[in-house]
Amino acid sequence: MTTDFAGNQTIIEIVYFIASVLFVLSLKWMNTPRTARRGIRAGEIGMVLAIAGTLLHHGIIDYKWIAIALVLGTGIGIPLGLVQMTAVPQRTALSHAFGAFCVTLVGTAEFYLRSPDVPRFMMAVLSMEVILGSLTFTGSLMAAGKLQEVLPQRPITYKGQNFVNLSLLAIAVAVAAYLVVHPGARQLFPVMIAVPLIFGVLMIVPIGGADMPTVISLLNSYAGLSAAAMGFVLESKLLIIAGALDGSSGFILSVIMSKAMNRSFTNVMFGAFGQVQASAAAGAEEKTVRSASAEEAAGILAAANKVVVVPGYGMAVAQAQHKVRELYDALTKRGVDVRFAIHPVAGRMPGHMNVLLAEADIPYDRLMEMDDINGDFPQTDVALVIGANDVTNPAARTDTSSPIYGMPILDVDKARTVMVIKRSMNPGFAGIDNPLYYLDKTLMLFGDAKSFVNNIVHELAGNAHG
Ligand code: NAP
Repeated sequence: MTTDFAGNQTIIEIVYFIASVLFVLSLKWMNTPRTARRGIRAGEIGMVLAIAGTLLHHGIIDYKWIAIALVLGTGIGIPLGLVQMTAVPQRTALSHAFGAFCVTLVGTAEFYLRSPDVPRFMMAVLSMEVILGSLTFTGSLMAAGKLQEVLPQRPITYKGQNFVNLSLLAIAVAVAAYLVVHPGARQLFPVMIAVPLIFGVLMIVPIGGADMPTVISLLNSYAGLSAAAMGFVLESKLLIIAGALDGSSGFILSVIMSKAMNRSFTNVMFGAFGQVQASAAAGAEEKTVRSASAEEAAGILAAANKVVVVPGYGMAVAQAQHKVRELYDALTKRGVDVRFAIHPVAGRMPGHMNVLLAEADIPYDRLMEMDDINGDFPQTDVALVIGANDVTNPAARTDTSSPIYGMPILDVDKARTVMVIKRSMNPGFAGIDNPLYYLDKTLMLFGDAKSFVNNIVHELAGNAHG
């Protein structure tokens, strides 16, 4: 019997070890588009192994409830996996909410099972687990609600807001500290859950819907840290590793996103950025723009040697990536050198453009990162901007009063000709006008990205046959 138990334990440890290695490799492989698919597979297999290892656990005496939970989880997970690409940020927020809720429940159960005999270190990590878990739960639900627009997107601010929020957090930490010393004070435990639950809501209230992707990535980090803390409580090395990976990668991602938007973390968290949007949109009226038809655009593209396509959020909204692929094929066939310039925060989530273009089978070596392509714009005949706006706005370089001042941009205005596909003169995410559109070298191609690109492809095909 004892040998059986020890053997079982060894198998579990080996399975957990393989799962941990797969998680690390998964993150590494997801770093480049070429290996990203392999990275996803590695992560999936790692997760299956982690679940299988847990199911082998000696402590499980009845699988009935686990089976019910598995069926329920699968029932919820499948539709969640089928959402539109543009809804992935809020879907991710929901996943964090579920994970954080689960962590909080496990922490609560562990506390009431162990109290009053909870060693200090254990009580400290358990407190961290439930505080982070509960604030991530409500914070993520709020973030998902704002992104899905079931909650108002605009930041709601009032005087002394940061003081109120930080005081709440301080109360939760003080209760945790008391419980570390007096783990028998069971009646205080619900306070340590309730206060962070309220904090999670209030933390998101002053942040505009537009900043939610960055916040979600930060909440991802909190969820990871709370899972790592749970790993200490449950003495699971796998959870500690997976939680730490999740926590650190979420944090690094938030930093990368903030940097690419030229915003500091504190500005995202406390700056109520979305407020500038509505007012800043004004001022576009009197200036004139030049527009062109699909036929004219096709002629210019066909005559070019070097074309750089700059995709943005509008391409994602229009789901134009497959038509863009057709355009790529048509131009490449004519001997035009076509590349794609990817801004790190184009779209609404990290890697948004890479994922869409990969879905349309655009060769990876045609996707260029901002720093690698910017020097080539002066030698580019046509910069074709498809549903991108802020990431091409030259005001970020010169206008110190602009909310995006200092944000690194794609230097499309340095190309010989710029063509911009968008439906109107409406601003993008930052809510500001784009001086690019009024340049002499710029042609506006007004229309939905998918149908406009389609029309250009047809024109090109017509010319080829004609
Ligand atoms: P953007 O500045 O939001 O502009 C997108 C443009 O697409 C709009 O001007 C819109 O103009 C156009 N558009 C929308 N639907 C369209 C359609 N069906 N067909 C054609 N055009 C359409 O987008 P971006 O240049 O990609 O910049 C991303 C912004 O999001 C940045 O400000 C970035 O800081 C922010 N952000 C990104 C992330 C991330 O992780 N990627 C996270 C948070 C925030 P019309 O309405 O006139 O068509």
